[in-house]
Amino acid sequence: MGDRGWKAYAVAAALAVAAYQVIPDNPWWDALWQVGIGYAAVAAIVVGTRRLPGRRRLPWWCIAAGLGANTSGIAVAVYASDVLHIDWSPTPADPLFLLLYPGCALGFALLIRAREPRRNWAAMVDATTFTTGLGLLAWVYVIEPTAHSDDMTVLGRAIQIAYPVGDLLLLAMLTRLVRSGGARGAAFWWITASGGAFFAGDTIWVVLGNLDIDISGSLPLSRAVAMVFLVAFSLFGVAALHPSAAELDQPAVRTAPRLSGAMLATLTVTSLVAPALLALQVSTGRVTDGPAIVVGCTALFLLVVTRMAQLLREVERQAECVRALSRQDELTKLPNRRAWNDEAPRALEQARRRGTQISVAVIDLDHFKRYNDTYGHPAGDRLLADAAAAWLSALRRVDLLARVGGEEFVVLLPESGADEAGHVLARALAVTPDGQTFSAGLAVWDGVETSDELTARADAALYAAKSGGRNRIVVARDPAQPPVVPAEAA
Ligand code: GH3
Ligand code: MG
Ligand code: MG
Repeated sequence: MGDRGWKAYAVAAALAVAAYQVIPDNPWWDALWQVGIGYAAVAAIVVGTRRLPGRRRLPWWCIAAGLGANTSGIAVAVYASDVLHIDWSPTPADPLFLLLYPGCALGFALLIRAREPRRNWAAMVDATTFTTGLGLLAWVYVIEPTAHSDDMTVLGRAIQIAYPVGDLLLLAMLTRLVRSGGARGAAFWWITASGGAFFAGDTIWVVLGNLDIDISGSLPLSRAVAMVFLVAFSLFGVAALHPSAAELDQPAVRTAPRLSGAMLATLTVTSLVAPALLALQVSTGRVTDGPAIVVGCTALFLLVVTRMAQLLREVERQAECVRALSRQDELTKLPNRRAWNDEAPRALEQARRRGTQISVAVIDLDHFKRYNDTYGHPAGDRLLADAAAAWLSALRRVDLLARVGGEEFVVLLPESGADEAGHVLARALAVTPDGQTFSAGLAVWDGVETSDELTARADAALYAAKSGGRNRIVVARDPAQPPVVPAEAA
């Protein structure tokens, strides 16, 4: 379905919904109009879904089945009241009306699972918090009063309670969908708006009922309320026909939801529902729902704590990640200068306590500029990474190799004096890739100097190695004297 299909349907549906205000005041016209709009939405979903491969149609079919049943309920309700003159509750239409909730909830659940193959605990906690807060309101103002109402049979009461329960189920799925990762094209917002419209419509009924407001005397008003549901039907149809419907079940790249200011405000308000209810009941002098408020309050408190723990853990994980990244050289994956500055003093302190020798070498690739000029900068990068890997394989497990500059590296060689360290470095020099060489300055710790002083001595020896002809390791023999004896390597 291209761009034209969904637009044509959207315009037609909008006109039909608007026209509902002006059709004749007659139950048959009423039913015909509503059922027509409902089945048109079901048809739109079926048509829109045909673009998807078989397996991906299932969520939409669940939604279509829920809408279809609900629409059929309208026809049955009119038939029951106007032909059979049934005026008791529940009517045969109720089970059909109620099928909307499991149908839509299942459809949403399947979409959520497709969008998030990995479980998204944060989104689940958010959705549960939101649903618990509103669930407490539903319990206090709808479910509990209905359960104790005298003017209904047990079945009638059960059916009446099933509506708010269905709404809560739909709401839970809707919040969960909004908190899910994944594409948020037009279709995503259409179905979100549709679920929201169903919920709004049901809420209007509940509020009117609770305030004892009868709008059946006003045709425009009662039709306006019915229009909310007609809009909800049609939005599902628009969503299914919109080209972005195909993205709705695509797996999200990133799943941890961000906690925006609006979301935080919403969660704050919902978790304050319990104390607010209590305050309200206390102010009227009669706490009628103590146990429910205690349960709701406890659940909300635990959910908020859970969410905070999740966020804290996420922050800790990211901090650890940033720390690791800030200490690693991106090209060679070796420790960088920051890591070196931390590790070197620690290693010297350890050598002091153990009374062992420790050496530091500064390594610099020979004629690296020439290599870059000859083979290009990317090849130079590759040489750096390959050389780092090769040297690591030649060094001992205890040695620490770090990249501290462009083609400049340092090595920390614990438990080794000039001979042992020189030996290890010669092995590294021999495996330098692509026929390249390095020069190195090696200094053995004198037991008192700082790691900076030790490295500076090694650096001076490196300078001597360069001027001595490169491709060699020069040992700085004594802290007091400049390095003089070039020891030819290889
Ligand atoms: P010497 O033998 O005296 O050390 O000569 P050299 O050419 O190795 O030293 P010089 O300091 O003249 O040049 C270093 C070159 O290293 C210059 C710079 O472009 C190159 N370089 C520095 N960092 C990188 C890098 O990350 N990637 C690449 N490809 N080249 C780099
Ligand atoms: Mg160099
Ligand atoms: Mg250099």
